[in-house]
Amino acid sequence: MNLILYGAGKYAAYAMDEVNAYRKKGFEPVCFCDKDTQKQDTYYLGLPVLNLEQALRKYDDYFIFVTTGNNVKFEVFHELTGKFGIMKERILNFEESRKYLSCDFLQSDMIISDTELFWCCVSSYVQATRPKVELFTEDVSKSIGNFQKLKEQTIRDIQDKTRQDKTPCVGCVKLMEKYWPIDNKIKSVAFGFEYPCQLSCCYCGHRNAVHKIDAEAIKKQRQFSWTKFFETLENNELISSDAIVALASGEITCTPNKDAVLASVTKYSLGILTNAVLYDEQIALLAARIGSHMNVSVDSGIRETYKLVKGLDAFDRVFENIGKYIAKGVRVIVKYIFLPQNSDDENVIGFINNCIKAGVKEIEISRDQLNPDALPLSIVEQMRNMIEIAKIKRLEVIVSDPVEVTDGWRLKELLDIEGGLSK
Ligand code: SF4
Ligand code: SF4
Repeated sequence: MNLILYGAGKYAAYAMDEVNAYRKKGFEPVCFCDKDTQKQDTYYLGLPVLNLEQALRKYDDYFIFVTTGNNVKFEVFHELTGKFGIMKERILNFEESRKYLSCDFLQSDMIISDTELFWCCVSSYVQATRPKVELFTEDVSKSIGNFQKLKEQTIRDIQDKTRQDKTPCVGCVKLMEKYWPIDNKIKSVAFGFEYPCQLSCCYCGHRNAVHKIDAEAIKKQRQFSWTKFFETLENNELISSDAIVALASGEITCTPNKDAVLASVTKYSLGILTNAVLYDEQIALLAARIGSHMNVSVDSGIRETYKLVKGLDAFDRVFENIGKYIAKGVRVIVKYIFLPQNSDDENVIGFINNCIKAGVKEIEISRDQLNPDALPLSIVEQMRNMIEIAKIKRLEVIVSDPVEVTDGWRLKELLDIEGGLSK
């Protein structure tokens, strides 16, 4: 049976495991389809890229697998079944969806702190009032049940004009009216503990907490059963099998219950945020699996700046470890948070050169998201400078979504990044 893959972007590469599983069942990928005319009549991942009409004319007997990112997948399902009249049964990964006002965090995120479960961490103005439930270490089911109830109530309130202002979401730029999956399953879980950490980055939101972490908190972390937590989510069908688990906030290589945390999430794709001061073989093996990645914030191009920004003389060691992870097959995204201390030519050029030496393919640039002030133009200039140099050196650049800060839209315009913002 002919299998048409819809969406010839970077998400397609992550979907190839699933596509291969269908291949074993007799579905043979024959082409990609993409709306982008620049991609049409080229090849992607060894297959020709056509426009959909061409593919439908060429292959009578076809099935479709949508390989776009989740942010557009549901719009694509509606376009395929609506505009093109394709039957749902022909779309192998079809999911029912409904159009209403919501946001990605609200729909599919769960963030776990030492004491709470919540879903939104976008900005300081929301954090003051963000909805959250207590994480009962003794009664995981109760915490998860309360979380679901609160989330569903918030979504209902947003649709109701008389209750919208009861939510922190009223007026939030992340709210969008679009198709959302009706199953409302969790697709992203982020661990946001206050782990101990070797560094003391000047922008760290946990800066005081991670260095003052006490024995009691560590004991509590050790006692908690993460395996039971994920089993509860799975048994109640609340988490999607293709969910991504982010080991974010704090430093996973230092956490006292690292083995238990890692053991509980081996079946999921992982997004591992580490400072790479330590190389960890167990983490390398998990991160090297298809669909997983690692994100390392370096924020400097020379040793002195690294020490100034991060509080430890570990610049060379960090790039060496990044190289080791890449050699193990890990997709490593190296991040640069622009600050007054690192926004100069020497650091920008040094960063790119070190990335290339370590074999890095993707970099992410960001501003300090916890500082809501407008960025000085000189920093914006250096951001633009880095984007230009990276393009010349064929590095892919991800720009973290800056809309949470006061000059988000200005920054977006100044950097000329209409598309391509990461979540
Ligand atoms: S405040 Fe904004 S980002 Fe947070 S849940 Fe509400 S709409 Fe989403
Ligand atoms: S590496 Fe992360 S947790 Fe550690 S100090 Fe820096 S920002 Fe904070």
